[in-house]
Amino acid sequence: MPTAGGRAKKTMSDRPARAWSTAYHAAWVYPVAGEPIADGTLIIEADRIVWVGPRAARRLSASVREVELGSVLLTPGLVNAHTHLDLTVLRGLLDGERFFEWIRSVVAARDLLSPQETLDSALLGIVEGLQGGVTTYADTAPGAEGFQAMKALGVRGVAYLELFGPDPVLCEQAMEGLRARVGALRLDETPLVRLGVSPHAPYSVSDALYAAVAAYARAERLPLATHIGESDAESQLVTDGGGAFAKFLNGRGIATTMRARTPITMLEQNGVLGPNALLIHCIRCDDDDVAAIVRHDAGVVTCPYSNRYFGHGVAPVAAFVAAGVRLGVGSDSMASNRRMDLLAEACAAMPSSDARDGWRECWKLATVGGANALGLGDLIGTLEEGKQADFAAYSVPAGSTIDEALRFASSEGARAQLVVIGGSERVRDGRATADTSAIVARASAATARIREWRALARAT
Ligand SMILES: [Zn+2]
Repeated sequence: MPTAGGRAKKTMSDRPARAWSTAYHAAWVYPVAGEPIADGTLIIEADRIVWVGPRAARRLSASVREVELGSVLLTPGLVNAHTHLDLTVLRGLLDGERFFEWIRSVVAARDLLSPQETLDSALLGIVEGLQGGVTTYADTAPGAEGFQAMKALGVRGVAYLELFGPDPVLCEQAMEGLRARVGALRLDETPLVRLGVSPHAPYSVSDALYAAVAAYARAERLPLATHIGESDAESQLVTDGGGAFAKFLNGRGIATTMRARTPITMLEQNGVLGPNALLIHCIRCDDDDVAAIVRHDAGVVTCPYSNRYFGHGVAPVAAFVAAGVRLGVGSDSMASNRRMDLLAEACAAMPSSDARDGWRECWKLATVGGANALGLGDLIGTLEEGKQADFAAYSVPAGSTIDEALRFASSEGARAQLVVIGGSERVRDGRATADTSAIVARASAATARIREWRALARAT
């Protein structure tokens, strides 16, 4: 890597894996909270940031490990506020299907994956995310593989356990299952990886189950995430009990009727909206819905590339920003996206991202925006004294201005040279510090197997 200030180059691989106190020097530090710092320094102790500022202003100490990062932009770690890590191996395999058929194919493909393949899929998702500088993952899945994968690779995240239950008669049964899953995993939570719950969506969760999960999450102090306001078919099901989803449910003997004025209103009626709630997508959201989200202080995550993949439309991001909604961006699963590229998602979400301030807004959305949406804003999202040491560094051309650096580091496929999570280096010199070759090999074997199954299914 290039060096700054004419100092001798010291490769990162020469350094010890962990030191008590470390100073990282970068051509640019963008703390997100506050102005960018030219020739900046970030000092961490164990898992926390203890100092951020111009290199010239730091106090020297002999006990600090010095890391010369050179011509890089150092930023807070990116926050992927919505993903399904266990679907990473399905990338490209379900293309061309309409939303309803796509969901059924995902369910069928999930059933075909072995527990090891599902875990490998989740691990692969994190490996790819780390390459882009993603330090926090809000993962939604029916199984525990995402939870295990985040712990195994040392990243930060919330594992929202997904549950389904469109038939109100089966509500208590679904709750029993959820309580058992949470009970089994809760003792395994770590300071980095926490559990949450996720009633899937209005077409797969009854009003009774939404209300029961919301009450349970409040009592247990668990974060909650749900897909909402994503498609016209979903809106129609909620507002008049008709449409494609209604037809499917009616065919299974489940009656459908008007539930609420809008999907967001339905959540409000069932007590789901609150500070612990993360609302995924929110494309179909009118002014009254936005006001309800603000009134209940719920978080929102928008997934522009996934929404485009299905042709679902565009979330009213400008209205969210104007109203002060806690807003982040997510990649959604790789079964409806190509890459976990949070800066691309943020720039797609922001209407003025090509303007000077637009670049900064994109970085804010992909960092502190996501942190706030997940209720983790006190811990992560900015580079400030006392916050967790979660950050990434991207190579930028020597002599870049801050705007050039931000633009360069957010260009398509930009890879992080260094990723630190809770004070531990997870990417160094552009490579994962864990051995990931076996993960990648096993995951591609799983992809090949599912591709074969898809080809057979199409042929018959
Ligand atoms: Zn999703």
